[in-house]
Amino acid sequence: MTFSKSVAAALETVSLRGDAFINGEFRPAQSGQTLPCVTPIDGSEIARLAACDAGDIETAVAAARASFEAGHWRKMAPREKKKILFAFADKLEAHAEELALLETLDMGKPIANTKSADIPLVVQTVRYYAEAIDKVNDELGPSPHDAVSMIVREPLGVIGAVTPWNFPLLMASWKFAPALATGNSVVMKPAEQASLSMLRAAALAAEAGLPDGVLNVVPGEGAKAGKALALHMDVDGIVFTGSTAVGKLIMGYAAQSNLKRVALECGGKSPQIVMEDCPDFDAAADAAAWAVFYDQGQVCTAGTRLLVQNSIKDAFLKKVAAVAKDLAPGDPLDPDTKFGALVDETQMNTVLGYIRKGNEEGAQLVCGGERALGQSGGFYVEPTIFSGVDNKMTIAREEIFGPVISAIGFGDFDEAMTIANDTIYGLAAGIWTSNVNTAHRAARTLRAGNVWVNCWDGSDITTPFGGFKQSGFGRDRSLHALDKYTELKTVWMQLRD
Ligand code: NDP
Repeated sequence: MTFSKSVAAALETVSLRGDAFINGEFRPAQSGQTLPCVTPIDGSEIARLAACDAGDIETAVAAARASFEAGHWRKMAPREKKKILFAFADKLEAHAEELALLETLDMGKPIANTKSADIPLVVQTVRYYAEAIDKVNDELGPSPHDAVSMIVREPLGVIGAVTPWNFPLLMASWKFAPALATGNSVVMKPAEQASLSMLRAAALAAEAGLPDGVLNVVPGEGAKAGKALALHMDVDGIVFTGSTAVGKLIMGYAAQSNLKRVALECGGKSPQIVMEDCPDFDAAADAAAWAVFYDQGQVCTAGTRLLVQNSIKDAFLKKVAAVAKDLAPGDPLDPDTKFGALVDETQMNTVLGYIRKGNEEGAQLVCGGERALGQSGGFYVEPTIFSGVDNKMTIAREEIFGPVISAIGFGDFDEAMTIANDTIYGLAAGIWTSNVNTAHRAARTLRAGNVWVNCWDGSDITTPFGGFKQSGFGRDRSLHALDKYTELKTVWMQLRD
């Protein structure tokens, strides 16, 4: 089995630019160094990325600062800003096919997903925040009769954003769209596994009229470029999506440097709870499978701990396993493929390592568990289900970020709540029940930023997204995201008689 033909055909239709995008132009890393950009579809190198480091970050932050101080964007009339962000969204939409191909080539998720979800959601995100530019007002305080108090929002300044590879452009847009809408200048550090779409998007923003220096993209290794950005003394805020381990480092860098504002969207180990009074077992089984198998489990809200009431456990897991057995990994570029590759060889080996650990610690393998399509040269793992998992096992405690369900049995509602909350994370949780009282009690008890009842991953751009506990703090999406990118200023004016 080889997918090289489809990779070659896709490469002919996309623009592959791996240089940094700084101050409105592409430029190589100052060191001249590059990194390989490998597609997980067949393991081949498709491009070289500028291996930027502290020197390039210095240049990008200086460009962002200069644009901010000059006010080319910050001081632009709201309607003009809105026009440019709408033009940017239109360009993203016009290049949707190309951007979807870039995402699929770079990180191996099915083209059906990047076309139907990733890129349309990016366009929607940019439009949503463009709309907010002239819809969100400042406040007037309840001041005494002889004074006027104004509570105004001002842009923070220069925003650094360090973003992950699982939804490369979408996660980036959750940062750059509200940051731009509030008048900031931005330096993006995309994940080295998947930087191409963000680089392409920055060029499209420039074509749409975004002034030079307002949106810069500096690819490179996290420990070099990302660290330099988070440590920079002239960056006012750093926003991050990725692992909790790196999130902790980012907070440390902010503390060691200039106390820049920090917002973190980190990992999860989300529980999906199925009660015996579940209203629709087929829908719940489908949701339980797709909560983990969508994008091969590389989703921070993946419902990796499947908690099923003991009375229905065996029958329910049979249904979930039937969905898994129907899902064969395939060529991510084939429009019929529903289950693609993992992002790289390292991630594949990490996932296979967790599967080994599950077996060693005594969980029962229901299906999957092996590398797939090895002869393609790409990085694929079968959809995998473990049952008989104890919440103390490694596969129930650590974020695997791969297609692995850990099914745990429970006796009653209280036990389910205890297990669900017994985690360092708090990004998402869900419950299936016909009882409205049980649903409300669960929604109040579950310590997570998103709680779903009789569905999984219900959300859109209008609702906030983020975590409790070590899943981070600060919210992406919705108007609440604007708080991260603005300072509140109080102006108190004394009136004369
Ligand atoms: P990381 O947390 O390492 O990567 C996220 C981003 O942080 C990338 O841009 C990365 O750059 C950057 N980074 C890495 N080290 C530093 C540093 N010292 N200073 C500043 N920035 C840094 O995730 P990984 O890609 O390594 O994936 C590991 C695990 O993280 C996954 O298995 C998964 O569990 C979790 N993860 C969670 C995500 C989420 O959405 N919550 C998303 C991605 C991963 P670089 O390009 O060098 O990696």
